[in-house]
This record gives sequence, C-alpha cells and structure tokens, in this order.
Amino acid sequence: MIKTDVVVIGAGPTGLFAVHQLGIIGLKAEVIDNLDKIGGQCIELYPDKPIYDIPAIPECTGETLTKNLLDQIKPFKTNFHLNERVQEVSKEKNNWKIVTSKNRIFISPNIIIAGGVGSFEPRKFSIKEAEKFEKNSLFYSVKDKNYFNDKKICIFGGGDSALDWAIELSKKSKVILVHRRNEFRGAGHSVALVKKLEKENVLQIKTPFQLTSVEGVNRINAIKIKSEEGKTETISTDYVLGFFGLIMKLGPIAEWGLNLDKKTIPVNTENFQTNKKGIFAIGDICSYPGKLKLILSGFHEGALAARACFKLAKPSETYRFEYTTVSKSMQERLGVKKSD
Ligand SMILES: Cc1cc2nc3c(=O)[nH]c(=O)nc-3n(C[C@H](O)[C@H](O)[C@H](O)COP(=O)(O)OP(=O)(O)OC[C@H]3O[C@@H](n4cnc5c(N)ncnc54)[C@H](O)[C@@H]3O)c2cc1C
Repeated sequence: MIKTDVVVIGAGPTGLFAVHQLGIIGLKAEVIDNLDKIGGQCIELYPDKPIYDIPAIPECTGETLTKNLLDQIKPFKTNFHLNERVQEVSKEKNNWKIVTSKNRIFISPNIIIAGGVGSFEPRKFSIKEAEKFEKNSLFYSVKDKNYFNDKKICIFGGGDSALDWAIELSKKSKVILVHRRNEFRGAGHSVALVKKLEKENVLQIKTPFQLTSVEGVNRINAIKIKSEEGKTETISTDYVLGFFGLIMKLGPIAEWGLNLDKKTIPVNTENFQTNKKGIFAIGDICSYPGKLKLILSGFHEGALAARACFKLAKPSETYRFEYTTVSKSMQERLGVKKSD
C-alpha cells in the first residue's frame, strides 16, 4: 500500500506539469498510467510532429516536450507506475483508496485525474474466438521480443508497428505479414524493406487477406485467412500479433461516481475540483465553459488543482503564494538554491 499526498492518473503533458506544480509547493505525487511509456498523446500519437503553441517554445516535437517536462520534474524523484490502469476509486475515511489493474493500492487525500481522452487500448480482431488466446498466443503489443525467438508468427496490420515488428522478428523467427489491403500505410522505407525481405525469402507477405478463424485448444496452432475473392488458406502458427492502432476509451473513470458530460468530467474553474471533494480533473478530460483542449490549458489547470490539493494534504498548514524566482523553499525543493 502506497500513501501519498496526491495520486496523479495519467502521465500525459498535463499530469507531468501537475507533478511540477505539486512538487514546488512541497507535495509528493505518485503517477499511474495505463501505457508503457510516459507522455500521453504527445508520445503515443505524434512523437515526431512539431508543436508550435507551447508558451516560450517556438517549436518542439511531442517527444521533446515530454523529455523537457520530465527534466523539469527530476528534482522531485517521482514514482511512475506504468502499464497500470486505475480501476477503482473509493472513499476511505478522509482519504481516497485507488486500486490499479495490478492490484496495487494507493491511499491519498487527493486525486488529480489527467486522463486525457481515457485509456488507449488496442483495436482488436473482430472474430470472437480470438479473445480467449489473448496473453498466451495472441497479442496486440510486444513486451519482450525474445519471447518470439525461433517461432512461427503471423503479424496482421499495414501500419508502422506491423511493418517494424515484421522486420525485427523475422531476424530470429519465421514471419508471415498479413494485411487486408495490397498497399501498406507505413513509412516508405519500411514498406521497401519488407518487400526486399520477401524477395530474399526472409519473410512472407499475404495481401489482401483477413483473419477468419483461429484454431487450437489452449494455444493457437493454426489460423485461417480469406482473400477478397474468397480464397481461403490455413496457416500453422505459434503466435498471432495484431497491430491495428489504438482506440481511446474512457474506461473505468466512468464508474467512479463522478458527474460526466459526453465523456468529460465537469469541474469548477476555481480549483478544477469535480463533484467529489479531493478529486480534481485537468487537461483534455475536464470540461467547463470555454474549455480549450490544448496543452497550455492543462498546465494552468494543473497549477490551480495543485494549490487546492495542498489544503487537503496539509490541513494544519497555510498555503502561501510564492514566486519560484524568489522563494527559497521552492528553490530548495528544485535543488537550485544558491548559498546566501
Ligand atoms: C495529432 C495531434 C496533434 C496535436 N497537436 C497539438 C498542438 O499542436 N498543441 C496543443 O496544445 N495540443 C495538441 N494536441 C492535443 C494535446 O496532445 C492534448 O491536449 C494533450 O495531450 C492533453 O494532455 P493530457 O495530459 O490531458 O492527456 P493525454 O495526453 O491524453 O494523456 C492522458 C494519459 O492518461 C492515461 N490514462 C487514462 N485513463 C487512465 C486510467 N484509468 N488509468 C491509468 N492511466 C490512464 C492515458 O494512458 C494517457 O497516457 C494534439 C493532439 C493530437 C492527437
């Protein structure tokens, strides 16, 4: 069980800057994110794209922004719990009890929900029986590539992830890349490389084909694929990997008793508190009149929510407004205080 001043749900840009705002006023935060990496939409959806409207940074990519936000919170040595989804939130005396998908429990007087558009989840195969092989022989992501060494693998998809993994896994395994169209959507150089590897008999490509069934008792041992013209093929395989992109789902947030408005959480603009005392919502997930779904709005919202968290985390202390330029205590927390 982890006790902390604030649990931040979501490691997107808003959650990261909230950690900074909490840190400079002396509050400890634990950050939980469903994804395996930090950065939210900036990293998952547009790491290489330039952003032009971050105050005082004329241009930076989603990846650079995330790196800079992480550098800025380094002094606070924040714990990140990745690959973990917050499932349940319930009241426990004056605190909130937060339970994750790994059954980790957090106890905190404050929760800041910086959950963006909800949790990103993989788009899955439409055939029902695929579900029972998930996490044993059918996957939508690769956690450890060595798991697939010297095996037969069928990879489905036409984008960058499908192409990149087909190229990588074909170094040590027998790979068949299957896509429902003849054209691949991925980067030109990756498309050229998989076609070259096909010519060299390093991997096989089957287009335009779709999965129609998976066979096996406890594990997959074969699949059937069908072309647009109705041609069917049976392929014996050890693993099936599907890379069809991500969908965003509000997920368990919808079950925490919070007021919702079209998949967003209404808040007051004084401190970004929801209808529950001690639960705040900031960034893309919150709504109020005039809300702009921009990173800069999330930064402002986090600054105000952090100050409100102070009152519940340290009820016997009085919060004092200070500037980082002159505040000795803030500079100490940031590790930048020069001796007088
Ligand atoms: C293509 C594109 C370009 C954009 N360009 C710009 C731009 O130029 N300028 C700009 O200001 N904005 C831009 N945006 C919008 C900007 O990315 C978002 O406003 C910003 O990412 C919102 O940040 P956030 O931290 O609120 O949410 P997110 O970045 O969505 O992060 C939320 C995180 O919460 C996690 N999460 C959700 N639910 C749970 C749960 N139950 N448990 C654990 N974790 C959870 C998610 O996994 C995710 O990592 C762009 C967006 C896109 C898609």
